[in-house]
Amino acid sequence: MSPSMDTAQGVYKRAGSIVTGIMGMGRVYLGASSVLVISVFALIISQFIFFTVSIDGTPTMLVENRGTAKKAIVLLLEKEEKRRGYPVYWQQVIEINPVWGNDGRRCYKSVENVAGVLRRKLQFVTDGVAVMVNKEEKLYMRNIEVARQSLGLIKDKFRPRGALKVSFEEDVQIVNKTVSVEQLVDRDNAIGILMTGVQKIENYEVEKGDTLWGIARREGQDIKELMDINKGVKPHLLQIGQKIMLNKQQPLLNVISSYETVELKDVPYTIVEAGRDPSLNYGEVKVIQQGVPGRMEITYRVVERNGQRIKKYPVHKTIKSDPRPQVIVTGSEMLMASRSGRTIYRPVVGTVSSNYGVRGGGMHSGIDFAADYGNPVVALAAGTVKFAGYRGGYGLAVDIDHGQGMITRYAHLSKAVVSTGQKVKGGQLIGRVGATGNTTGPHLHLEVRINGETRDPASLL
Ligand SMILES: [Zn+2]
Repeated sequence: MSPSMDTAQGVYKRAGSIVTGIMGMGRVYLGASSVLVISVFALIISQFIFFTVSIDGTPTMLVENRGTAKKAIVLLLEKEEKRRGYPVYWQQVIEINPVWGNDGRRCYKSVENVAGVLRRKLQFVTDGVAVMVNKEEKLYMRNIEVARQSLGLIKDKFRPRGALKVSFEEDVQIVNKTVSVEQLVDRDNAIGILMTGVQKIENYEVEKGDTLWGIARREGQDIKELMDINKGVKPHLLQIGQKIMLNKQQPLLNVISSYETVELKDVPYTIVEAGRDPSLNYGEVKVIQQGVPGRMEITYRVVERNGQRIKKYPVHKTIKSDPRPQVIVTGSEMLMASRSGRTIYRPVVGTVSSNYGVRGGGMHSGIDFAADYGNPVVALAAGTVKFAGYRGGYGLAVDIDHGQGMITRYAHLSKAVVSTGQKVKGGQLIGRVGATGNTTGPHLHLEVRINGETRDPASLL
């Protein structure tokens, strides 16, 4: 390094040390006797010597003397660090070289003015950090603490109560980086940038049936904003195929969080049929034991993306109480006999009051069952209703054809609930006990006919 040239090259971490380096240079030791002569000579010479301050090899200005430039550098650094509140430096190389004559160029004399020029020409940097999202530098911050704080606050915004995990969907890294002070963003701005992302304009081709409002709603756009970025588009005159712009703003970071929630659910009880109660009407059900639903505790895992639920699934189930079954008995289906593979139902609940056969000098063509008015009457077996209506002394009667020439007749009914042509099952309700026709009181008269001839129903029952 020549003594005639001061250089700040290679020193850029702390500009203060640059200056110290400069100060120490160009020192020349001279004999005491020659000091006066040399001094006078130097004074004369100095009128014609100027110094060029170059930044990265480009002459930037002319200064009167080396000291002015050095002081300006110190002053500038002090001011900048004080103003910003953190250490700054520059990576450009400043050189101060003597030149002969000023060629009419302006020569800076004041330290303040030199500092002012340097301030405009130098790019201040600092040891900061870059916030990387998916391996891309998205923004620059002062230090790792403030970057972490910003990221933490974003997570906090979407942190559910009792959060199990809160993380970013994206790969996020904070890396040390020498960053331009102009690019630094503070905590709140960083949060804003990371959460709202960057504006991304996309083209959209208008389709049949589209309205600007419809597009806005579907694409999650603000209608006012949509109209702002599509100046000249007349909302009422959209044409199919017309191109409009959509602002597809997407956050740079998405927060994925999960938590667990416990819900109590009923466990339905089962219905157990304990048996049949002949005192009940056909189809009637009597509850012997009221069923009680059980209780189950279900733990769900809920996953949210930016506070919006995206998943919910059960992770654990605990039975808190078992359900108590409902125990019932049912009436009807007065199954009496099963003969030759054929199931025969008792037609009514009641005792036989009059048998088939000769009775008081006459012929009783069926069996009478003493039964209360309104009691259910069911079909003995499956068949087709052949007749349902009034039939002389039988009163209101139902005839059921069981095939193979067999017909059963149910007489003196108060009500018939089937009609001609209807198919019935064995045990199915067909009517109600009554006292219609030739009778002195409510009872059921049951007749069995095979090929038109009456038979003793007792042979079937
Ligand atoms: Zn009778």
